Amino acid sequence: MNNRLVILGGGESGVGAAVLAKKQGYEVFLSDSGIIQPQAKTLLNEYGVEYEEGKHTLSLIMTAGEVVKSPGIPDTVAVVEDLNNAGIPVISEIEFAGRYTDARKICITGSNGKTTTSSLIYYLLKNAGLNVGLAGNVGQSFAYQVATQNYDIYVLELSSFQLDGMYDFKADIAILLNITPDHLDRYHQDLQEYVRAKFRITQNMADDDCFIFCRDDEISMEHLSRIVLKAKMLPITQKLIVSQGAYTEGEQMKVKYGEEEFEMFLNELALQGKHNVYNSMAAALSAKIMNISNPVIRESLTSFKSIPHRMEQVAKVKGTLYINDSKATNVNSVWYALESIHTPVVWIAGGQDKGNDYTPLYGLVQDKVKAMICLGVDNKKLHKCFEGKVPCMIDTTSMKEAVARAYELAQSGDTVLLSPACASFDLFRNYEDRGNQFREAVRRL
Ligand code: ADP
Repeated sequence: MNNRLVILGGGESGVGAAVLAKKQGYEVFLSDSGIIQPQAKTLLNEYGVEYEEGKHTLSLIMTAGEVVKSPGIPDTVAVVEDLNNAGIPVISEIEFAGRYTDARKICITGSNGKTTTSSLIYYLLKNAGLNVGLAGNVGQSFAYQVATQNYDIYVLELSSFQLDGMYDFKADIAILLNITPDHLDRYHQDLQEYVRAKFRITQNMADDDCFIFCRDDEISMEHLSRIVLKAKMLPITQKLIVSQGAYTEGEQMKVKYGEEEFEMFLNELALQGKHNVYNSMAAALSAKIMNISNPVIRESLTSFKSIPHRMEQVAKVKGTLYINDSKATNVNSVWYALESIHTPVVWIAGGQDKGNDYTPLYGLVQDKVKAMICLGVDNKKLHKCFEGKVPCMIDTTSMKEAVARAYELAQSGDTVLLSPACASFDLFRNYEDRGNQFREAVRRL
């Protein structure tokens, strides 16, 4: 048996996998075509992991028995093609780490809402006194935690890229929040391929596992109509009443699992907005499956603090509320942001367009947006799509300028919303940088 494990990518997941592999007795080699961060190098040195940066040396890679690939590296990269052609298995860090823990795994995927829902479930389980870790796309990698901690339960946020490299892994509770077209550049522009990647979250599930899915999501439901799953099927919906799962009725959300029931008024939820009702229903349902008592669920869903850059209320200045939704990098999340606001909106949008179709926003924009502030290097598409649909459109090229113009245009009672629908890389390092600059500019008003 070839004991050599090669890791491609020296980011959070790659370094975590290296540490775990070393502890498990593999001969480990890590290769990154870019630069490895100093803290990562320190950790690799501490565990005696061999590595290279700025290149992929094929002679050191093609001798692997197995390869763990960072989710950021597409299959079209030459070294991955070579590995695939040579028949060397390429897996994700989650698949690898899953082999070395018996913990129960609650896994969350979807095009939007993953981090929010994962954080909410983690918060809930912690409040219930359980020994739980949070990993995946958030915080420290799953592999690193498996190597260094001893949790009974993991809440795992999984992107489609992580799911792509998963084969034998099994979730105990799998949650698929929604599917809207995203990342199609990595899926040959084929929506079905992206849908299949998302549904890998259900693979290997048996009849005592639970699958939570959104009954109101057309793309998920279309796929579900064509496959058979063994797991217990638990829908969440805001459109009808279900006998098992979670739904809304009047002003309440209701959860039913087996003989257990839980209900709560929607206006008591810490996270407001229709999208967060889905997230809260998924969290409450998971909690019921985990046998958590109703008072703990209610208290947790009431006291959870929203996470940065997702509909984060930054401040009220002269009666205007400023909301940082920098993480809204696609049209669907902006739809939910606008839907959840009930005042006139000064909307800051734009950045690097990912081939957006803005038509789903037209109704909400016409109803609510009094001014649109475009913040991007190239705003032509926004002008083409929204001119005539908003009373006022302005171009800006820095966050400071965007916030200053928003301040001039907003009146007491309005909301200034940063919800860009676009990636941030034209003017910012990433969405966090964009959100931090927004927060900073608002605080200086
Ligand atoms: P992800 O981790 O999937 O990117 P986040 O929780 O970081 O999702 O939220 C990303 C954006 O999507 C935010 O703008 C947030 O307000 C919005 N959002 C959160 N939950 C949902 C949902 N269930 N449906 C649609 N949009 C959502």
